[in-house]
Amino acid sequence: MQFSEIPGLEELKGQLVSTHQRGKVAHAQLFSGRPGTAVLPMALAYISYLMCENRTAEDSCGTCANCTRIKKLVHPDIHLHFPKVSAAENKYEKVLAEAIPRFREFVAESPFGDMEVWTRKYGQENKNLLISRQDSRQMLKNVSMRSVEGGYKILLIWVPEMMNSSSANAILKILEEPPEKTLYLLVSYNYDSLLATITSRTQLVNVPPNSSGEIQNYLEGMGVDAAKATQAAELSEGKLGLALHVSAIGESHECEDFQKWMLECWNRNLTNLVRRSEDFSKSGKAAQKTTLNFAISLIRNAVVHASGQQLSTQNEAESSFIGKFADKLGIEKLEKVYALNNEALIHLERNSNPRITHLNLSLDVTRTLNS
Ligand SMILES: [Zn+2]
Repeated sequence: MQFSEIPGLEELKGQLVSTHQRGKVAHAQLFSGRPGTAVLPMALAYISYLMCENRTAEDSCGTCANCTRIKKLVHPDIHLHFPKVSAAENKYEKVLAEAIPRFREFVAESPFGDMEVWTRKYGQENKNLLISRQDSRQMLKNVSMRSVEGGYKILLIWVPEMMNSSSANAILKILEEPPEKTLYLLVSYNYDSLLATITSRTQLVNVPPNSSGEIQNYLEGMGVDAAKATQAAELSEGKLGLALHVSAIGESHECEDFQKWMLECWNRNLTNLVRRSEDFSKSGKAAQKTTLNFAISLIRNAVVHASGQQLSTQNEAESSFIGKFADKLGIEKLEKVYALNNEALIHLERNSNPRITHLNLSLDVTRTLNS
């Protein structure tokens, strides 16, 4: 990963580069940001910059032996630590050997991904993943080893909030007194849940969300058409990972699906609504949130239309649907349906049962439409 692969956030990139240029690379740094933002990509670009054999004033080269190996996460001086299934001491090596290739694939495929995406990729949806006491022993082992190639030795600790207190306590000493040229880079999505003993021993690197302009330009640069890029940027609240996800979904399909759903509610088609909630519950948490976010954005646009204001750019099929939908429901019902979808999203974020949440939503919407 190079800085140039991450859109915007130029000030932060400049600050990170300057730590190297000034010889002020802090030995323990905590990259912190919301899920879906460029927290992990930023840490990876920083690692590449620090270890690149051919860096420029702004970025790593992307092609030297170190950059190439860092891209694949196979550099012998970079040690990966991340949440995984816990294992007894004699099974730990096996768990590690299975998890590391999966983790490499996960980072290559979805560098903006969070725990949910990782859990699915790892195929352990029903297990509690954590950074265990065994992992912290492994960290101590990494630290005691010499750097294989004589440069930095880096421990990348992804989602340190998944460390239990016993594993966190085990590494406090090494966070405080690292051997020379040893770096700890922690990548966190939930700063508030970290132990104070960790945050007080690390230098905070705050990774902000992208602006919607940055996201829109980035998506357009990847060949996403302008209307779709605008919509994804609006929906994503600065989370590039979510924007990529939204723009990857055929929007007409999403819009069509929303229309079918509304029609089922309108016609009180209970059989289909029950089936729809079952499908919804099987689609994975990220997809569930995207579906609700899409509905919310569409209804919001309908509210805007109904109140006589100008709509932001939409594709033609969508604008035409929004117009008809708004005229049929009127502003009062639209606002009710909008609030119901928002409530359902909040419940989902608090880990409610997705099937029941969606079915309740459908029934409430059915009542509202037919009232
Ligand atoms: Zn390089």
